[in-house]
Amino acid sequence: RAKASAQERICLFEDYMQAEFDDRKALENDLHLALERDEFELYYQAQVEVVTLNLRGLEALVRWNHPTRGQIPPGVFIPIAEEIGLIVELGRKILLTACTEAAKWKQPLKIAVNLSPIQLQAPNIVEIVMGILKDTGLAPERLELEMTETVLLNDRKRVFKILNDLRALGVTIAMDDFGTGYSSLAILRDIPFDTIKLDKSFVRDIALNPEAEALVRLVIDVGNHLGKTVIIEGIETDAQHECIRRIGCQVSQGFLFARPVQASKLDFLHWSDAELAPDASTLKNWAN
Ligand code: C2E
Ligand code: MG
Ligand code: MG
Ligand code: MG
Repeated sequence: RAKASAQERICLFEDYMQAEFDDRKALENDLHLALERDEFELYYQAQVEVVTLNLRGLEALVRWNHPTRGQIPPGVFIPIAEEIGLIVELGRKILLTACTEAAKWKQPLKIAVNLSPIQLQAPNIVEIVMGILKDTGLAPERLELEMTETVLLNDRKRVFKILNDLRALGVTIAMDDFGTGYSSLAILRDIPFDTIKLDKSFVRDIALNPEAEALVRLVIDVGNHLGKTVIIEGIETDAQHECIRRIGCQVSQGFLFARPVQASKLDFLHWSDAELAPDASTLKNWAN
């Protein structure tokens, strides 16, 4: 009897594996179609100056509006797009959409766009970025390209050259999720970049725990001394906000200030100066 039920369990497990596999294959197929059918949508999350709450810029975050499964987050489909070779085309489309949108804003805010390491490996990435800037008319200084330290798993010399070429266009480079990867502090010295985005895991306990605060303070100090912009991600509470303000952090991003929103919620950025309140491009304009 025990044997039979073990056998049964193996069958159930195999069914389960098969179902997982089928589901994954279905998602892969849908992802190909999604590009043709234009099912991707960019949301935008505010980056705010910690003291004034003025907007510094917005980060574009992609979502997939799947026809039957509903909205799928990037954490689920970006890795699949990377594996099946779709990320370069999808990434180009995301960059084009974000730059097109930002070029229409009346306020010259930064637009931050995430790049996959695979996009950086594409032979013509610099030409792609240059072409999109030209076609959309977006001032290069307004574009910030975010990437994680995993870009360094590729040929470093080549990556450094590409980052330098991108910066030569006037674009800025942000190290995303800083502090979570494998790399040492040396990358802060070696990589050509402009902005540090400290990962949200570092601020979770910041208001409760002096060690957590000391670490954030360290990154802000190093960043300031190196002349980098430091953005603290994941601010969710007033206590965390108060804490990073006290430490001297200048720019932040988090649900406390704003969740990622659809482009249609950014209509105030399309108003002319005359139509704008004096406190334009602060958070007040966009609190729903
Ligand atoms: P990321 O670039 O580090 O983006 C920040 C993520 O943290 C976003 O999740 C955002 O919604 C979330 N977040 C922001 N503030 C808070 C907060 O206060 N608390 C918490 N718990 N979370 C917060 P999202 O939109 O699900 O994106 C996840 C990741 O997917 C991104 O992390 C990025 O690595 C990737 N991703 C998103 N859009 C793109 C894209 O267009 N291209 C590529 N290659 N990757 C993208
Ligand atoms: Mg990012
Ligand atoms: Mg991040
Ligand atoms: Mg991330």
